[in-house]
Amino acid sequence: MAVFKCEKCGATKEGRCKPKKCPKCAETGTMAKQEDKKSSGCGCACSAKK
Ligand SMILES: [Zn+2]
Repeated sequence: MAVFKCEKCGATKEGRCKPKKCPKCAETGTMAKQEDKKSSGCGCACSAKK
């Protein structure tokens, strides 16, 4: 399972396949795969600030 994040609005979505469009802002082509939890940090929301 990977996490995809919208580069436009910052919404995240979990899934095996890359979403075609953002579930929040409905923009297409903005969903980018995020690093897996094991790569760095604790994997919780505390690493998503910025
Ligand atoms: Zn979005």
